Amino acid sequence: AIAVLGSTNMDLVAYVAKAPRLGETVTGRDFRTVPGGKGANQAVAAARSGAEVVMIGAVGADEFGVRLRSALAGAGVGTAALRTVEGASGTAHITVDDEGGNSIVVIPGANALVTSLEPGDAARIGAADSLLLQLELPLEAVLAGALAARAHGVRTVLTPAPAQPLPAELLAATDLLVPNEHEAAALTGLTDVHLAAAALLQDVPEVVVTLGAAGVLYAARGREPLAVPAPRVRAVDTTAAGDTFVGALAVALGEGRPMPAALRWASAAAALSVQRPGAQDSMPTRAQTDAFALS
Ligand code: ADP
Repeated sequence: AIAVLGSTNMDLVAYVAKAPRLGETVTGRDFRTVPGGKGANQAVAAARSGAEVVMIGAVGADEFGVRLRSALAGAGVGTAALRTVEGASGTAHITVDDEGGNSIVVIPGANALVTSLEPGDAARIGAADSLLLQLELPLEAVLAGALAARAHGVRTVLTPAPAQPLPAELLAATDLLVPNEHEAAALTGLTDVHLAAAALLQDVPEVVVTLGAAGVLYAARGREPLAVPAPRVRAVDTTAAGDTFVGALAVALGEGRPMPAALRWASAAAALSVQRPGAQDSMPTRAQTDAFALS
């Protein structure tokens, strides 16, 4: 089983030919509201990939909250530990351009009110193979989750997004860090991925840097780095590619697959997701990833 302690957001997505620059107004083509948030996205990715998943977090007492909860439940994610709190649900204001690139403003809403674990959360975390963490909840909550996982011998997988300086305590409780190349550079001040990954190994035992269409770089203490290229596909929307990758990777590792095989399988899942629009809607099922990984 996989536990996720993280955010739920309603994604408000504008599709445009070319994203506006600061001060510029452009006419877009389409607008959609789709369930997202890095936590919820990773939870759905893991559930689609075939794992039992529990989501710990909060939605607001608004229409978006109702939809966010039912989207998770509909994807097979356990929502008993998803609180409904007063005020607005989190929202993410996303622009997707014709190249499939995106830019995002996140307003935390209910997510900001998750500052600690609730009774029962530590037991839920303790029952999982892995705890998936991101940085869209207050750091106190992320740290509390990581420490609970540590106490139970549960693998902690941290996606350091949005990028921010990480407390030493959190890094010390992280088993696997999965930054994209921008986050790796922000965390280390190093733009060379190999150097950044090596620097991060001083703080955590294993790092996977995701490199978009270029694939991933895996680094672990005392081992040769491993580059895994991404399958060549035509990307239409890279929203949640990283979350799809992490959810699938956690499932593969939880099933005992060795890291190189798990990385290839997760790369197949992420490559499938970028070929479809949307965040959670774009995530492949286990069968689809299996079929693509073999092709
Ligand atoms: P994020 O979505 O967090 O910014 P990346 O852009 O690095 O992260 O994408 C995460 C992973 O998704 C990549 O490592 C790769 O496996 C997959 N991916 C992203 N873009 C593409 C693409 N154009 N073609 C194939 N795979 C992709």
